[in-house]
Amino acid sequence: MTGQKLDGLPRVDRVLAHPALEVEAATSGPTRLKALVRSVIDDARSEIKAGTRHSPPTEDEVVTEVLVRARALRERGTRRVINATGVVLHTNLGRAPLAEPARQALVDASRGYASLEMDLATGRRGTRASFAEGALISLSGADAALVVNNCAAAVLLALASTSAGGSVVVSRGELVEIGGGFRIPEILEASGARLVEVGTTNRTHLGDYTRAIEERSDVRAILRVHQGNFRMTGFVERPELSALVDLAHRSRLPLVKDLGGGALIDLARHGLSGEPTVASCVEAGCDLVCFSGDKVLGGPQAGVLVGRSEAIGRARKHPLARALRLGRLPLAALEATLSLYLRGSIAELPALAMLSRSSDETRSRAERWASALSAPDRRVEIVATEAEVGGGALAGASVRSFGVSLKSALAPDVLAARLRSGAPPVIVRVTDDAVVLDALTVLAAEDEELLGAVASALSVP
Ligand SMILES: *Cc1c(COP(=O)(O)O)cnc(C)c1O
Repeated sequence: MTGQKLDGLPRVDRVLAHPALEVEAATSGPTRLKALVRSVIDDARSEIKAGTRHSPPTEDEVVTEVLVRARALRERGTRRVINATGVVLHTNLGRAPLAEPARQALVDASRGYASLEMDLATGRRGTRASFAEGALISLSGADAALVVNNCAAAVLLALASTSAGGSVVVSRGELVEIGGGFRIPEILEASGARLVEVGTTNRTHLGDYTRAIEERSDVRAILRVHQGNFRMTGFVERPELSALVDLAHRSRLPLVKDLGGGALIDLARHGLSGEPTVASCVEAGCDLVCFSGDKVLGGPQAGVLVGRSEAIGRARKHPLARALRLGRLPLAALEATLSLYLRGSIAELPALAMLSRSSDETRSRAERWASALSAPDRRVEIVATEAEVGGGALAGASVRSFGVSLKSALAPDVLAARLRSGAPPVIVRVTDDAVVLDALTVLAAEDEELLGAVASALSVP
């Protein structure tokens, strides 16, 4: 019985010759298409053998399934999306959108060759990232800077270059997970250093650090981690950063600060308090400060170390520095982003512009969307929302914003799924009974596309 059904399976070459696959063959390429056809037939064969399928699929059925799989594979690639979630630094959506000059710099550096490690004045070998590092020195007040691939890489390199083979003292309240699998104890272990935990989850005193340093002879550094993605309140205490720096220096140890965010300006001016600036950490005397390029700094994925020349010099010479270096495309975008800070043109940074946008502005945008989307078969309302900074910054601090709530015959998660599979995909927030489009995080130039995508998602039968 089973043998007969297996004999009835369509042949790969016959399916490939099916006229409905002609266009797909051009898009996917013949090798990939053949592999897809084979996988669909193989799966049917396994199902027949397992008794979960009772008749072989027809050629048409195989073709339909091949087309579904080909589309799903294509959608898995990285594509531009419209972020209507209201989360400004959305880690799953690539965090900060780039400023126009950063985008242009990236395109320019990708076109042909780039002066990555050549000094154009002398024609001799130059240092990679020397412009970015110079800008970071000016903007932070540090003696030296080093650019790497992301903040996790910066922390890894800071710990490896100061403490491998020795131990690092950290408060128990800072043994945190940042997200995406970045855990302080694990990164410490990967750096080749041993973790010495001091204090308790909620309270760590300066004396706890002093005792740990006095009791052991192998301590090489004190690590301080910024509690950016959560808040501890109530019966909590930890020493001031400057007191910890004093202790480190009296003990002839470097203080490594994992700052995360990387605010180059005081965000309190943009209504966001509680995010320390890079300059304040440098000023407090930290030997190495690690931060991200794509969080509140508003640039591409990158990691930065700033601090004292000696400590940066050791990090630069460490073999891991080569493995963790930044590629030329994000480097070009980072340099253009830093140039905006140097020129004082931070209004051009989309993430910072969103965070300081007035709620009147988002409200009138939501009103325009609502009137464009209104129709008898749906309920469209303007709603006040609490947008988020995101990206592990400011412990989920919210930003007052407005959006449009959509209720239609479609269940909200069905509508959200349709919007995700549109062109371009639109990512929304889903509440109990509605889809919400937040006006804060949609870029100014995306309004028409957004409205078109919503209209077509609602019109699919
Ligand atoms: C976000 C964050 C990191 C990781 O940064 P990536 O740029 O994602 O590698 C590390 N430490 C802290 C404190 C952070 O907030």
